[in-house]
Amino acid sequence: MKLQNDRYLFSGGIDPLQLVEKYGTPLYVYNAETIQAQYKRMVSAFSVPRLHINYACKANSNINIMKLLKNLGAGLDAVSIQEVQTGLKVGFAPQHITFTPNSVALDELEEAHKLGVRINIDNISILEQFGHAFPGVPVGIRINPHIMAGGNTKISTGHIDSKFGISIHQMPHVLKIVEAIGIPIDGLHMHTGSDILDAEVFLQAAEILLNTATHFDQLDYIDFGSGFKVPYKPDDFETDIEDFGEKLSARFREFCREYGKDLALVFEPGKFLVSQSGYFLARVNVVKPTPSTLFAGLDTGLNHLIRPMFYNSYHHIENISNPGGKPRIYTVVGYVCETDTFGSNRKIAEIHEGDILCFHNAGAYGFAMASNYNSRPRPAEVLLMDGKDYLIRRRETLDDILRNQVELDFDEAKEHQQNVLNA
Ligand SMILES: *Cc1c(COP(=O)(O)O)cnc(C)c1O
Repeated sequence: MKLQNDRYLFSGGIDPLQLVEKYGTPLYVYNAETIQAQYKRMVSAFSVPRLHINYACKANSNINIMKLLKNLGAGLDAVSIQEVQTGLKVGFAPQHITFTPNSVALDELEEAHKLGVRINIDNISILEQFGHAFPGVPVGIRINPHIMAGGNTKISTGHIDSKFGISIHQMPHVLKIVEAIGIPIDGLHMHTGSDILDAEVFLQAAEILLNTATHFDQLDYIDFGSGFKVPYKPDDFETDIEDFGEKLSARFREFCREYGKDLALVFEPGKFLVSQSGYFLARVNVVKPTPSTLFAGLDTGLNHLIRPMFYNSYHHIENISNPGGKPRIYTVVGYVCETDTFGSNRKIAEIHEGDILCFHNAGAYGFAMASNYNSRPRPAEVLLMDGKDYLIRRRETLDDILRNQVELDFDEAKEHQQNVLNA
């Protein structure tokens, strides 16, 4: 979205204020062009004979976003059997879907195996169970290299206390099990966590994974997970993917020569592919000065965009109704009856009630983490493609919220209770 002649416009000249007129607020808007550009950037950053980019669809599981990435050539990274099933429905070939769950029962892996998708197992117990239940079936294993990385503790998954992956220190045990049961290990996987600030961290962890790989002779792929950082603030740091890609590719090609086989190099980005494509538009209900703070209260809350409250994440906020307005200092809050702050003490062009505020980086973990808390319907979603806007999810209604509730007949229940007492 760019400021042109005092108006904010999406590429293709689409006016966000007109979208709001048409679809209402709050509204998620995704720009297909940005997703395409990020995907192409990722693909051109790595030069190896076999590169697989699997979209981590938990970031944004709208089927149209999934389809857009499939059409670009991406595979899919699924973390639940439902994501696997959705991926198949959308048209991903089973061999292009990788299932990398945590703490699921053997049944779910059995179902994934039946559907023909690749599986990464992340604990020794299930690895043994799977090996006994499905002799000769190849699986990958998820390793925790214990690299301390990540923007904050809730999403850094490589550290020593993490529930994710099989500890690198347990490899001797894993090797015994694999040998005794005869499990063909066809892949190694790691995912050190989101928001990696330093490409060197990736390379260190990669080294650990490659060392481990020399112990397995039936590998087909090495999956380095994700964690690519995208900029959130106007002058924020982002993973230098071109530089990292060049370095890792060189190391990976060298490894494949030593290993004697062209393994697939796999990544599973979520945020990197979709975060910057997304905008979240909400209306200002109330401007409320208190003795200490000037609040702008919106027609949305942590029920629709939880990242600021949950991860303390920064989302850039602009007043697109008053682009030339004099900046003032606002704390932007939601309408949920709970502390519900989107941003504190932000410099934003003067806000009037009824104005539309725009949140940036809303394409990843925005709608995907939205809920019906406070009995609020979830927002609509719109995809911008080739200069046109397409509704890709209808706004929910009260009926949607009540749909699965089962209403009891209290008079009948009372009668039943009376009969029980009288018996
Ligand atoms: C969440 C997740 C990803 C994607 O992480 P991003 O930070 O969104 O790129 C990749 N792989 C696995 C296994 C995940 O759980």
